[in-house]
Amino acid sequence: MITGGSRGLGRRIAEALGREGCAISICARDEEDEGRQVEAEINEQGGECLFLRLDVTSEANWQDVVAATVERFGKLDILVNNAGIYRTETVEETSEELWDLVMDINGKGVFLGTKAAIPEMRKAGGGSIINISSVAGLVGSEMSAAYGSSKGAVRIFTKATAIQYAGDKIRANSIHPGIIETPMTAHMLADAEQYQYRLGRTPIGRIGRPEDVAFGALYLASDESSFVTGSELVIDGGRTAM
Ligand code: NAD
Repeated sequence: MITGGSRGLGRRIAEALGREGCAISICARDEEDEGRQVEAEINEQGGECLFLRLDVTSEANWQDVVAATVERFGKLDILVNNAGIYRTETVEETSEELWDLVMDINGKGVFLGTKAAIPEMRKAGGGSIINISSVAGLVGSEMSAAYGSSKGAVRIFTKATAIQYAGDKIRANSIHPGIIETPMTAHMLADAEQYQYRLGRTPIGRIGRPEDVAFGALYLASDESSFVTGSELVIDGGRTAM
């Protein structure tokens, strides 16, 4: 299962897992058309993909999509908690409503998804949970308060999951992307000044591509990472090494 799989990073992760032979459900709240298109493309290429509507903030909705996934594919052993929203307000600019919205989707959504998936992963004999955090969950940002806080919460929640469920052979790891070209960042990167600013803070000299993150997710989903749990995979072109 991949949340937010209809576009951006989630879409590329779905395509990468599909090429490796995974049966996939992609879940998103909006963009049903885009979701159906990804579903059709993966199925046309010989993969198995199902689009499901999901609001990650609803526990009841999570129960439904996990049940639908297991009914269709027989088991659930990989969950990519990728859905998220980005907001750039500073501490003083952040309203209580904005704080709650960002925490609900980026933080609570990951918690609810993990909670819903664990019983099925236990039945499957183990699994891999991959939580898409951010470099903003590792270091402070001059332009966001709620976003980085939600991503920091995901980082530690991942480690708690890893140690609580290692005995069930369920691994949990977080990925921390730097700036990646997706619909989320399109507006920001269309601004020449912002683009140069971001580029200047990326030692490797280019903006990230969705596939840079998809390859990392593929590794964490695979048996090749069977000794890796509770870890942080930073995919940021060197941004946080500075
Ligand atoms: P995007 O905006 O292109 O896609 C986000 C997806 O999340 C969409 O499919 C959307 O429908 C889904 N979504 C949002 N709210 C939802 C909800 N309540 N329920 C279900 N689905 C919901 O974003 P992206 O750039 O592909 O980002 C994917 C993840 O990567 C996010 O968690 C984001 O914070 C993180 N991230 C992105 C970047 C970047 O530079 N693009 C950097 C670091 C981290």
